[in-house]
Amino acid sequence: MVAALMPPLSPPPRSVDLAVIGSGVAGCALAAALRLDGWRGAITLLEIGRGPGGRCATRRSRRDPDLQIDHGAPFFNVSSSPAPRLIAPLSESGWIKPFSGAIRSLDGEGQIADPIGDGFSDGDLWCGHGSMEELCRGLLAIATEASDANAPIELQSSTLVRHLEACGQGSSLRWRLRNNAAEILCEARWLVLSGSLLAHPRCQTVFGWDAVPLQVAAEQRGEPQLLEAQRTLAGISAQASSNLLLTLPADTAQPWLQQPWRILQFQESAQQRWGLRRISLQPLADGRAAVVAESDPSFALQHRGVYGSQSSAAQLLGARPPADAEEAVLNALEQALHGALALPTGGADRQLMRWGAAFPIAPGLPEELTLCGASAVGFCGDAIAGAGFGRVEGALRSAEALSAQLKERL
Ligand SMILES: Cc1cc2nc3c(=O)[nH]c(=O)nc-3n(C[C@H](O)[C@H](O)[C@H](O)COP(=O)(O)OP(=O)(O)OC[C@H]3O[C@@H](n4cnc5c(N)ncnc54)[C@H](O)[C@@H]3O)c2cc1C
Repeated sequence: MVAALMPPLSPPPRSVDLAVIGSGVAGCALAAALRLDGWRGAITLLEIGRGPGGRCATRRSRRDPDLQIDHGAPFFNVSSSPAPRLIAPLSESGWIKPFSGAIRSLDGEGQIADPIGDGFSDGDLWCGHGSMEELCRGLLAIATEASDANAPIELQSSTLVRHLEACGQGSSLRWRLRNNAAEILCEARWLVLSGSLLAHPRCQTVFGWDAVPLQVAAEQRGEPQLLEAQRTLAGISAQASSNLLLTLPADTAQPWLQQPWRILQFQESAQQRWGLRRISLQPLADGRAAVVAESDPSFALQHRGVYGSQSSAAQLLGARPPADAEEAVLNALEQALHGALALPTGGADRQLMRWGAAFPIAPGLPEELTLCGASAVGFCGDAIAGAGFGRVEGALRSAEALSAQLKERL
């Protein structure tokens, strides 16, 4: 009878060995590297976006299956050796391939010239096979192939982690993760942040939160290394990028596809003149083409409050900009594109994608702060100091380095 008076029991929170926040390159590479390193614990990746990829994601449309736009990195380079060891299995299994698109630059007079060294195009160039999202899908496939029913890999997408709580001490320490409605998402023995959002005050400006989640958790624990790591991450600034995504109908796409480039870098003088940094031209299977015009940091700063209404932040949290503000930014970017290139955009579908933290600014988080063992927290991502900083290469390397440290501890 007593039982009948009790409220219904909610299921106990799901418990895993490792929770990874973010399924961009670094989060997915960490799962793959841990498996290649022989670690077999249960891993959950929690991701705000609709799928894996992060800043290497591919935008798709349910209504338009032929449409795909690599709206973050269109390719990546490996500029120091030895290459990250995940490159070999990714390429052998056909998830990535050498990037063969022509790269050119634009000078301040609007003339096409040889490529410039912009840090993204030296060394070996790679891209996803078909689209950039294949990079993260491939990393997850490598991780999953080496998993079994006792040690699964799970991806919870469209899931924003909002609160981090450290419960217990020592060997009974558990990290409890909650969403925006304070519901428990999972509990984990170890926590890895593969993006800096939860450690950085920009989460307060983007989402209107009253506190920085990792700062709250670190102050509660009072553990010096975690406090220092959080403070360092909070101090890393980043350049933003406001990008125009165009889908050109087949007839409008024709003159574009005849251009002698697939990537057009803007020289300094061209950036100053048009406020654009780079354009990537992506042919679609049905004769159409996608164009991504990336703004320079000063244009993005000038329009900092205007997020694309299709962004995850807008979709999940209703952080939508006023329609006229979005329209004004789209118009300014399209005008800049017309100024720089005399190419048509008639009939194109237009979208805005603003990356608030597109490129972290060095020096980043030093490697000695990437594993806070006493708090069972690790960090990876392109904001970790070292080779490839601020690029895909750095995200891969940081994950491989963290895996090497973690496998001894997990
Ligand atoms: C427009 C653009 C062009 C670029 N071009 C190039 C290029 O040409 N070459 C190159 O090498 N690099 C390029 N980059 C940089 C490259 O994309 C990044 O270095 C790389 O993708 C970083 O991967 P990451 O895993 O470290 O971070 P991210 O990709 O940012 O992954 C972090 C993930 O964590 C998720 N996340 C964060 N907080 C939470 C939370 N609280 N809850 C749930 N999920 C969360 C995010 O949604 C994201 O998916 C470009 C970036 C941009 C934006």
